[in-house]
Amino acid sequence: MPDIEPAVAPQDPRVFFFDTTLRDGEQSPGCTMHAGEKLRLAHQIASLGVDILEAGFAIASDGDRDSIRTIAREVGSSAQAPIIASLARCKREDIEAAAHSIEPAARGRIHTFLSTSDLHLAAKLQITREQALDQIAEMVALAKSYCDDVEFSPEDATRTDRDFLIRVCEVAIQAGATTLNLPDTVGYCIPQDYAQMFLDVRARVPGIENIVLSAHCHDDLGLAVANTIASVEAGVRQVECAINGIGERAGNASLEELAAIFTTRKDKLPYRHNIVMSKLYPTSQMLAECITFGAAPNKAIVGANAFAHAAGIHQHGVMVNPLTYEIMTPESVGVAHNSLVLGKHSGRRALEQRYVELGQPLTREQLNTVYTRFTELADRKKTIYDQDLLTLLKPEPKVSAIA
Ligand code: MN
Repeated sequence: MPDIEPAVAPQDPRVFFFDTTLRDGEQSPGCTMHAGEKLRLAHQIASLGVDILEAGFAIASDGDRDSIRTIAREVGSSAQAPIIASLARCKREDIEAAAHSIEPAARGRIHTFLSTSDLHLAAKLQITREQALDQIAEMVALAKSYCDDVEFSPEDATRTDRDFLIRVCEVAIQAGATTLNLPDTVGYCIPQDYAQMFLDVRARVPGIENIVLSAHCHDDLGLAVANTIASVEAGVRQVECAINGIGERAGNASLEELAAIFTTRKDKLPYRHNIVMSKLYPTSQMLAECITFGAAPNKAIVGANAFAHAAGIHQHGVMVNPLTYEIMTPESVGVAHNSLVLGKHSGRRALEQRYVELGQPLTREQLNTVYTRFTELADRKKTIYDQDLLTLLKPEPKVSAIA
């Protein structure tokens, strides 16, 4: 059996974090990463304390498959490491590729999925409901023959006929699924809809009490995190999420927001989790370096302004007592407490220190180069953000022939 406790009872206090930054996140526009970047992030995400790390979609390319294998070997080889998951459609070649990719991991998981809404069955897969059930039974069983730990996701679960969804869950469990993830693939739900689906499944699916229920929400209506929280209160014990909320279209539920909610509001949401809070900001920064964009300045928890107090009344309040306008401290999520404003009058020492805080200690030689570029930038720009500092580390683009 997988080394993960089934936990659907509402009084169970543990929530498992399933990170999909390197799969759902990586497949979204502007987020492509090369193997070295994925490995570096995988180490960081593991040290953040996630329980399951979805490392990729093995059948997508040879590069993806190799990258998952490398992560399974380098990051997932100890018993304390996260479970390394690999995604697969309900197809033999996908499941075989996924199984191969997770072989080096101490604990691996095959995550297989098939669309179940009538719209997707007709328009995308061109199969009947009965054919879908057969395919789920056969492919979950195949996955189970390779790996004890099998997650099944009925894609577009929230727009799937409820009676049929119940059948789907039953078939997946009978075939050996140990986690059932019911995604809001299109980000259409409001919190009460999403919670109700899990309550229905828990009430009607035989054997559900031995299964971990999982949420996977998209942010098309800005409700991914709210829907995920509602589902946890309805018995979900695995939350799928991504650093900075990256993912298809408007993204996935943001890992740092979920972790901060469970930590800050444990009075109402008394669920244990393993996330190391002080690593949230450094991880967010590292991701921003690897892809083409960082968190929006006003993004909760990790945005550049998340702890900035600009209005005079607020500044005064925070100086007297931070609790007046801060529900958590910047330090608690790994933002270095630093009132130091970097500008053109800052010295080398201040700059050097800031890079250390950003997890990018510089050699003497690097500091000299970066300092020159920093002063040039400071001449043109009033406020230098962390993102600017990270950009300064990149090699200067060559001027092309076309101006
Ligand atoms: Mn998704």
